[in-house]
This record gives sequence, structure tokens and C-alpha cells, in this order.
Amino acid sequence: VQFPLNAPDLRALDKAHHLHPWANFGPFEAKGALVMARGEGCWLWDTEGRRYFDAIGGMWCTNIGLGRREMAEAIADQVQHLAFANSFVDMTNGPAALLAAKLASLAPGDLNRVHFTTGGSDAVDTAYRMVQYYQSVMGRPSKTQMIAREYSYHGSTYISQSIGKRPGDRVPFFRYKEDGIHHLTAPNAYRAPDGMGEAAFCDWLVAEFEAKLAEIGPENVGGFFAEPVQASGGVIVPPAGYLPRMAAICRQHDILFVADEVVTAFGRLGHWFASWEEFGVQPDIITCAKGLTSGYLPLGALIFTDRIWEAMAADGARWFTSGFTYSGHPVACAAALKNIEIIEREDLLGNATRIGTLFEARMKALEALPMVGQVRGRKLMVCVENVADKATKALLPEELDVGTRIADTCEAMGLLVRPMGHLNVMSPPLILTATDVDLIGDTLEAAIRQVA
Ligand code: PLP
Repeated sequence: VQFPLNAPDLRALDKAHHLHPWANFGPFEAKGALVMARGEGCWLWDTEGRRYFDAIGGMWCTNIGLGRREMAEAIADQVQHLAFANSFVDMTNGPAALLAAKLASLAPGDLNRVHFTTGGSDAVDTAYRMVQYYQSVMGRPSKTQMIAREYSYHGSTYISQSIGKRPGDRVPFFRYKEDGIHHLTAPNAYRAPDGMGEAAFCDWLVAEFEAKLAEIGPENVGGFFAEPVQASGGVIVPPAGYLPRMAAICRQHDILFVADEVVTAFGRLGHWFASWEEFGVQPDIITCAKGLTSGYLPLGALIFTDRIWEAMAADGARWFTSGFTYSGHPVACAAALKNIEIIEREDLLGNATRIGTLFEARMKALEALPMVGQVRGRKLMVCVENVADKATKALLPEELDVGTRIADTCEAMGLLVRPMGHLNVMSPPLILTATDVDLIGDTLEAAIRQVA
């Protein structure tokens, strides 16, 4: 309504001028993009007035739902009072200070220090450099190398994309940092080697980590980067005990555990932070973004321990030469504070657990369908894996593009689910209701039956 252009014009302008993130040139050239005009709660309306239930949750991020007046008011109020103030060196602003203190109070253990970024990628990028900084000032300058996992997604800057390694993302036209970043097997029990059971697979993964350390030399490894649940790699929930065992090995070798909670923080698994509350791991650094503002404004953060801060600050001559113009942006921080207040007031963590459990169960029932090999995930992050043969877990031919066909069929029925190769992924807002769970379950089931 605010924009005077009609829908076909918007699509044409977008197609002519806008290179989208992760653009797939072929289908995009043919069809152009769906142009969204309005959002409220879990619902979106396109410029032609069609309505969609957004089970993708924006991009794992619209945790409190769209269109909240009090978010608009908090943002407008901050813009009027102080739209910008830099937070370089020794300047700050009220929302940044309040938000840093709030995050310190919500984060586990002694993660009491906060550094703001503009999103998840630059938070991971900064964490990479903070690990090297910390190890150096601790007198361990050779600890520059990092260990991460296959099927991880950590962002889209040079370093964060090099730490991540989803197979489809590695195209020959881009270059990645290969030296000093190592990738272990993803903890996906569904695709464990030799059909290993979950406990044996967990032992195998831990042994692989130890072997990798022996190969590189633990004196050369500074950090281990892990999403508690690998999100964009296909919602991979690790075997029980895996994360605490990996963390114990890290501790033993002075390797910092960086929990990338860009997706899992702020309620998706029913907690402020999943690494401690869901998996019992106390990280050294948490990276977060997305649900921090529920997508109302861009903001990311690293939350790290007193120990790291104190080590970095020990020599007064040192500078932490990293940060962005928009680090600690007052309007983004004000939005985050209001977002956290809403999550607390409406007990959205409790709702995520209650409805998330229901959602998980309804989605799990899709495993009865002949094409669904596995439904995995936890609470409000779930993935459906479509296969050619349930017994052998053989993949469907890539050219069938089954995930996209299912997503397109859902879209025609007014439901948005995210296609990723042969997978369909969902991460609905935390305000989900039991009626919404039925709507997603019934629509997705009908779409899978239609495509099969
Ligand atoms: N880390 C994880 C686990 C993510 O899922 C993402 C984005 O999806 C990122 C980092 C990058 O965050 P951003 O897109 O805000 O830069």
C-alpha cells in the first residue's frame, strides 16, 4: 500500500536490477521473484493480495512474528531521540549499553561481554579473529587454525563462508580460504557411515576429532566452530553426548568452543541459548543475530567470557581493531531490547517448547509417506528429507529438484516452506498455535503426496 508501483512493475524492476542472495539465475530469469507487500504474525501478503503462511519464519528469524505495533513504536521513538551514534573506542549509547547488559544476564556462565556486529556473518568473522587474538595474547601464537564441520553454514563473508561448508555452496567461481580451516564429518546420524547406530556414530565422530587434532597438532588449533543444531545444512541434531564430548576435548587442548547460535538463540529451541540449556555445553564465544531482533532490524553479536576479555585487555597497549560503523546501532539495539521484552512477557520460550513439541510430532508423522526418508529437528526447527528409496536412503535424481517442487506446490496452496535440494526446511515464528501446526502439517502432506 505504501508503494505506488503495481505488482508486475515491481517484479520487472527487481528482475532487471536486483541480484538476490543465493540467486539461482536460471529459474530467476524465467520467473522473477515473489514480491511481498505486508506481514502480520505468521502471515505474509504479496503485492497481488495473495496470502501465505510463512513456515520459514522469514529466514529463521521472525521469532515474535511480523507487524507488531510496539516494535514500530520502539523503533520510531529511538529514531527520534538518537538515530545514530558510533560506538567506536569510547563512545556508546543507552540501548547498546542496556542490551549488552541484558545479553550478559541471559547468556550462560561467565559469558558477560558483548561485541555488536550487523548480522551473523560478521559475528562469525569477528569470532574467528577474536580466537586468534586471544590465543596470541595467551602466548599461544601458533594456534591459528580452526576446525568446523561439513554441512555447516556460518555466513557469507570470505572467512565465515570458508568456515562453513555446505557442498552446494562451494562453486568453482568463488575462492575460499582452504589453509588452516578443517572440516569434520557432520553429526547426521541418518547418514552415518556403514549404518552405524547413534551411540557408535558419536564415538566415531569424537575419534575423528581426536585424529584430526593429532594430525594438525593441537598446538596449532585455536577454535572449534559449531552450530548446536546445524541449521541450513539440513537441521542436523547431533547424537546425544556429542557436543559435551567435543567441548571437553576443546577444553583439554585450550581450543575455544565457538557456538554459532545465529539460528538457535532467542527461542527456536525454547531457550535463550541452546548450547547450554538444550545441550549442556558452556561455550567460550556465542555468535547470534536473527532472533535477536526477530528480523525487525539487522543486528548481530558475539557474547564471550570474562576470561577472553581479561586476556585481551591485560596489556593496555593493545587495541581490539575490529568493529563496524553500525556496531551497537542505537535503533537496532532498541529493537532488540523490545523484542526480548516481548519474548519474556508473552512467555514465547514456553510456547516454543509446548507448540514446538507438537510441531515436531506432527511433522514426524510425515515419515509414513513413501517418499519421506526422515523428518528430523527439534521444536521449531524441522527438516523433511525426501528420498527415492526409504530402505537404502538413496537420493532422488538431482534434476527432479524435489524440494523446490514441493515448496512450489505448497506456495500455490498458501504455505511457504524452504526448499534445499531434496530437503524442505521449516522454522516458524515462536507464536505458532496448534491450529497453525495442523495447517502446516496438512498442507505439506498434501503437497508431498501430489509431487511423489
Ligand atoms: N550462522 C548461521 C548458523 C546461520 O544460519 C547464518 C544465516 O543463516 C549465519 C551465520 C549468517 O548470518 P547473516 O545472514 O545474518 O550474516
